[in-house]
Amino acid sequence: MHILVVEDEKRLAALLRRVLTEERHVVDVAHDGVTGLGMTLGGSYDLVILDLMLPEMDGMTVCREMRAAKIDAPVLMLTARGAIEDRVAGLKTGADDYLVKPFAMEELLARVDALLRRRSRQLDASAQLQVGDLSLDLLRHEARRGDQLIELTAKEFALLEYLMRHPGQVLTRTQILDHVWGYDLDTLSNVVDIYIHYLRDKIDRGFARPLIKTVRGVGYRIEA
Ligand code: CA
Repeated sequence: MHILVVEDEKRLAALLRRVLTEERHVVDVAHDGVTGLGMTLGGSYDLVILDLMLPEMDGMTVCREMRAAKIDAPVLMLTARGAIEDRVAGLKTGADDYLVKPFAMEELLARVDALLRRRSRQLDASAQLQVGDLSLDLLRHEARRGDQLIELTAKEFALLEYLMRHPGQVLTRTQILDHVWGYDLDTLSNVVDIYIHYLRDKIDRGFARPLIKTVRGVGYRIEA
């Protein structure tokens, strides 16, 4: 699923990105409220993890503005404050759940899972991405080309999901690295090319129409 983390503590934001990416989610990060709000308005997120105390615009305002703009992605609010009135106020602005810092990662993942399960039930049909005869079932973690089931590793799945969420759009290596690998960059500089090669082997090889296109000098795009 596609998750936005809005958190100004950069180490926590990086940790959340890493942990959620390991859970096979595609994660974007914003470090202030204004950027975070802009990203929710421009993107299609399945979940927003929103810190309460943020520079530029606080979490409650971001949440209220999102709801005013009819963005219905579930919001998990993070707060350093334990006061009951803050939690109540957060929920009143349209947050779905909250977590008081410091929290255990297991606790966060449990809340994220619960919210995403609820979300999935809401938009059952759209938990499926489709490009040509290639489909990706985000709930079952299954890829199919036509009737053929394709086995993918977690990283391959995340990469394919990212491409398929932007059909026809050229994605640069940097964008792909940033979204699929995050800050976990103790990786080879050509890791994107290597994984694109793996993916092509699995989803394009043996099919008449390749779906993954190389845009020379820029990056890749998927298109039917
Ligand atoms: Ca903060």
